[in-house]
Amino acid sequence: MASLVDRFGRSFPYLRLSLTEACNYRCSYCLPDGYHPDGRPTFLVLEEIQRLVRAFAALGMSKIRLTGGEPSVRKDLVPIIAAVSAVPGVRKVAITTNGTLLPRHIRAWREAGLTALNVSLDTLDPERFRTFTGHDRFAEVTEGVEMALGLGFDSVKLNAVLLRGRNDDELPAWFDYLRERDVAIRFIELMRTGDNREFFERHHLRADALEEQLVEAGWRLRARAPDAGPAREYSHPGYRGRIGVIAPYSKDFCAGCNRLRVTARGDLRLCLFGDFGIGLRELLQSDDDFDALVARISTQLGLKAAGHGLHQGETGLTPHLASIGG
Ligand code: SAM
Repeated sequence: MASLVDRFGRSFPYLRLSLTEACNYRCSYCLPDGYHPDGRPTFLVLEEIQRLVRAFAALGMSKIRLTGGEPSVRKDLVPIIAAVSAVPGVRKVAITTNGTLLPRHIRAWREAGLTALNVSLDTLDPERFRTFTGHDRFAEVTEGVEMALGLGFDSVKLNAVLLRGRNDDELPAWFDYLRERDVAIRFIELMRTGDNREFFERHHLRADALEEQLVEAGWRLRARAPDAGPAREYSHPGYRGRIGVIAPYSKDFCAGCNRLRVTARGDLRLCLFGDFGIGLRELLQSDDDFDALVARISTQLGLKAAGHGLHQGETGLTPHLASIGG
């Protein structure tokens, strides 16, 4: 049986599936003008998602992350979570969400089979939150995170994009937040995309300086699990929470890549910043195409490059992360 291993010996137990390109936020570095539908055919439906996930699972994928766009805007999210988590071989079902709808839906997602939750939260300051996202929803998001902490998830993580001059003074506030909470915050280095060049020049901040501050404050690097995300994770005996750093511009970032992506329209993307997609949708229309689908995924994996071209300013096909699934 074929498996998801590329020519550099990397294996890919982790699939990130975008459920939609639509988003209800207007984050300054991603969709500052909000989401505008482009009139092209709509996003993968439940049956297509099931076939896709079965094929990846047959190739050894065991962890799936549902993302977008904003996945919670899908009305059929609960059936999607249930279907995906029922696929043999899938052990972990995670979601990345802006968290606005958590108070309303998190229990149902958990009951449907969600095992891990990532919530984007770039700041602990409600007023900054409103400026960053275009919405005054800090209270809902943080309330939703508190609810999630009582629901027995394998992990609850927060994502904060590091922004020079905007949120790079909040480490002390995050330390307070993490003291008693079993949460991991991931600080993500701002990535340059096709649409955010000017914003990137102004606000990109290397994560190295942050890691130095962590080490000085007594935080220590932890070992990485095989299906872990891209973060380098730190812990500290005085805190229940953990801190992760995602540094896509760092030297070995791509060597540790264990992720493949499928867009909301069914294109396989071998890299977030690759310059081509491989259409899978035509093979998602019938169970009869299962073998062809498995073969196409594993053949295409041979084309995965050793690394992205971000250092050369090559952002590939990605105008913004909402278009491919961040
Ligand atoms: N809407 C969901 C959310 O807000 O988490 C999922 C999609 S969003 C594109 C996924 C993650 O990508 C978010 O944590 C967001 O902050 C991050 N992101 C978006 N654009 C980014 C960029 N240019 N650089 C780094 N992270 C980015």
